[in-house]
Amino acid sequence: MTDAIQPAGRGDRAIISVRNLVKYFPIESGLLRRQVGLVKAVDDVSFDLNDGETLALVGESGCGKTTTSHCIIQAQRPTAGEVHFRIGDTRPVDLTKMEKADLKKARRNIRMIYQDPYSSLNPRMTLLQIIGEPLKIHGQVKSQDELRARVSDLLRLVRLDPSTLNRYPHAFSGGQRQRIAIARALSLSPKVVIADEAVSALDVSVQAQILNLLKELQRELGLTYLFVAHNLAVVKYEADRVAVMYAGKIVEIGETEELYTCPKHPYTEALISAAPNPDPDTKNRPRIVLTGDVADPGNLPGGCSFHPRCRYAEDLCKQETPPLMELSAAGEPSHQSACHFADRLSLAGIGAAELTTDRDAA
Ligand code: SF4
Repeated sequence: MTDAIQPAGRGDRAIISVRNLVKYFPIESGLLRRQVGLVKAVDDVSFDLNDGETLALVGESGCGKTTTSHCIIQAQRPTAGEVHFRIGDTRPVDLTKMEKADLKKARRNIRMIYQDPYSSLNPRMTLLQIIGEPLKIHGQVKSQDELRARVSDLLRLVRLDPSTLNRYPHAFSGGQRQRIAIARALSLSPKVVIADEAVSALDVSVQAQILNLLKELQRELGLTYLFVAHNLAVVKYEADRVAVMYAGKIVEIGETEELYTCPKHPYTEALISAAPNPDPDTKNRPRIVLTGDVADPGNLPGGCSFHPRCRYAEDLCKQETPPLMELSAAGEPSHQSACHFADRLSLAGIGAAELTTDRDAA
């Protein structure tokens, strides 16, 4: 790893290093389609995805988490920034600088599972065609017999009956369809899987089955997951680390347990308080209701984008954008927050303590 791609993490285990990623969309108006503004969908995002871990990218709809994942695999080309991808001891390559042919090869190792298993599978294709398509495109099979054998193995891998390979998606339930989508994603033996709201369209009981399958596959195949989700309850049991996004930026990132028990950003605190919590020790914590709308990425407020909704906001928050800062000491697991008053957040349990501010003291 080069020095240039070290700062956003502490380890050297990064398989993907995202640095200063930006994705802006122009706002156009009038007959001449003149640009009158920018939608800042992703605004200076940096993080490491470590080999073998599950990192969850969470936030409300429109916060930029899906655009970030699309910019990682270059399904959308970023406006600026770098996405370094490294396998084993090889030198990292910057996916943002790659030409189409090289990118196609790199994408074998980074595959996506999409939210809706009903629309992501072509209803006119059999399982053999759906799961076998990436193998054929990337020249991984030499004969139809080999294709059938490989697809049968993939169906067994996701706990589906291989005798179903000539059937169409409509013959399967939502959970089974998501297993088919997972089999397709794994067909090229990737290192990294990006799961974009992969269980949010499913019933709760089916969600648990798919989450268990993903965990088992991670252990069996040594996969690394980037888990894009809005549901914090799902993330709590799936992720090793969590990155919380708001208005195109990461506002907090840390180990899951630490972030849930001791959040260091008021937005994280509110999200956690609103998530279903079966833990008898903490389930009676008061819920923090966020007032106001989610920040409009085409018209962001000055300073901290969260300030119109933040119950701890001070004048400083309206004037200066807080950077993402390291809070834990050297040698401890990294915990970063983008809040001017993160060091004063002494939340020994969600909602258990108020932030002590100058305003309160006055
Ligand atoms: Fe709230 Fe200010 Fe922290 Fe932003 S910087 S989260 S407005 S306290």
